[in-house]
Amino acid sequence: MPARTGAQYIAGLRERSAEIYINGEQVKDVTTHPALCNGVRTMANLYDMQHDPALRDEMTYTSPTTGDRVGLSFITPRTIDELEQRRVMMTHWARATCGMIGRTPDFLNVTIMSLAAAGDYFARNRPEFKDNIHRYYEYVRENDLALTHTLANVQRTRSPLAVPMPQDDRSDVALKIVRETDAGIVVRGARVMATLGPLSDEVAVYLASSRRVPADDAERYTFAFSIPCNTPGLKFLCRESLDYGRSHFDHPLGSRFEEQDSIVFFNDVLVPWERVFLLGDVDLSNNMVMDTSQYNHSRHQSVAKNVVKCEFMLGLANLMVHTLGSGQLPHVQQMMAEIIENLEVTRACLRSAESEAKIDRWGVMCPSTTPLMIACKLFIRMYPRMTEILHLLGSSSLMALPTEADLNGPLASEIERYLETDTSSAEERVRLFRLAWDACCSAFGSRQTLYERFFQGDDLLNAGILYNFYDRTPMTDWVREFLEQE
Ligand SMILES: Cc1cc2nc3c(=O)[nH]c(=O)nc-3n(C[C@H](O)[C@H](O)[C@H](O)COP(=O)(O)OP(=O)(O)OC[C@H]3O[C@@H](n4cnc5c(N)ncnc54)[C@H](O)[C@@H]3O)c2cc1C
Repeated sequence: MPARTGAQYIAGLRERSAEIYINGEQVKDVTTHPALCNGVRTMANLYDMQHDPALRDEMTYTSPTTGDRVGLSFITPRTIDELEQRRVMMTHWARATCGMIGRTPDFLNVTIMSLAAAGDYFARNRPEFKDNIHRYYEYVRENDLALTHTLANVQRTRSPLAVPMPQDDRSDVALKIVRETDAGIVVRGARVMATLGPLSDEVAVYLASSRRVPADDAERYTFAFSIPCNTPGLKFLCRESLDYGRSHFDHPLGSRFEEQDSIVFFNDVLVPWERVFLLGDVDLSNNMVMDTSQYNHSRHQSVAKNVVKCEFMLGLANLMVHTLGSGQLPHVQQMMAEIIENLEVTRACLRSAESEAKIDRWGVMCPSTTPLMIACKLFIRMYPRMTEILHLLGSSSLMALPTEADLNGPLASEIERYLETDTSSAEERVRLFRLAWDACCSAFGSRQTLYERFFQGDDLLNAGILYNFYDRTPMTDWVREFLEQE
């Protein structure tokens, strides 16, 4: 089947209706539920972009098996040119969402592609797992499915005195295998988060490599699989919606880009054998993300999105400065320069990751690890700082914020008279600052900051990854040699 349209995506969510809960009730239809339908509509628009005649060639490629045009983020890149084409496609989706939907489907499309390309990795666990991941990748690509994933068990205790140890995933809340049957494995437990969960067709489940698995009971906690979101026993509990059903004028981001985050409960869920990719091998599980190059491909998507998000923050900040006429103030210039640095450093890392890409052991053109690691780690601090800069630039304008109803209400003339600036009408100013508010002050904006801080592990975790990965030997040897000089 060729790349889906928005209508086909929506029909799929209806046909394969999953068990989703929000605000104490079960959602009958995510595509019409007021808390979720605008996010669904935005996702549908993304799928429709694949059929826009002006974009089609940049959004899709020819499927190697069916000859249909399928989503370009599924491509198995063999050349730097293909890697760049993939980035162009990912950039289109990121721009359509101002970088505010982290989990546009390309995020997991590249993940599943990379796992399938590294099929021999899974064959080391069991030969049939290689076929499973290959078939699954083709199934997702040819049906253009949207995936969520959930890699972490629910926080229970982080006390250093706790038994089991903190971050030891052995507890009765952690997702685990309760039995194996002829049909598959049966799993029970809970996982966080599944961003995009209620808007997805499938949920991929594996363990973040940072999570420890108890050595004595490993096989019950070590697995990788993916199942339809409507699998019996699977329940998604949404957080409170950040789309308050307001107009695009009042709530420019939240009314469009609510991707939702959900807790996933697995009540004795049967995972069919053909959907199991890894089972009971702690080393393979711990090393999966790095050794399959999944890290590189998913970071490639994240950093492409981060470039767009920096561009958006820069454009927004610049309009705020222009509207308030503050561009000549040295400290404003300093803050603007900081956003420019963030953009250009992130962009340089992306370019460097692509230009230094190499064919990896799986025969895939793999973007270079270090620039992606650094870009992702930096962004954990960059993004909160950029929202802080919006606070500092906007100040009271972020609170002197009439709504659309106010602009047409009894105080319309006062608003028009007192809220204009030297460079903008009152309405232009309010429209702009409502956008800035939604980016840095509203619940939607605050969740963006939390997302960027944690969605790929916290700063500490990323520091550990960089420290352990980076080859410091040549520099150390050089200094040692210097010390040994007479
Ligand atoms: C908005 C959002 C969306 C997300 N979406 C997804 C998703 O779709 N799929 C997914 O799999 N994950 C997702 N995540 C990430 C995931 O849910 C976790 O938040 C992430 O892995 C961090 O784990 P944790 O929440 O258990 O925090 P913890 O690991 O408990 O860390 C919390 C804080 O405590 C500190 N800390 C913890 N342990 C120690 C220690 N021993 N010593 C010192 N400091 C410590 C950490 O540095 C951190 O600052 C998302 C996160 C957010 C916030």
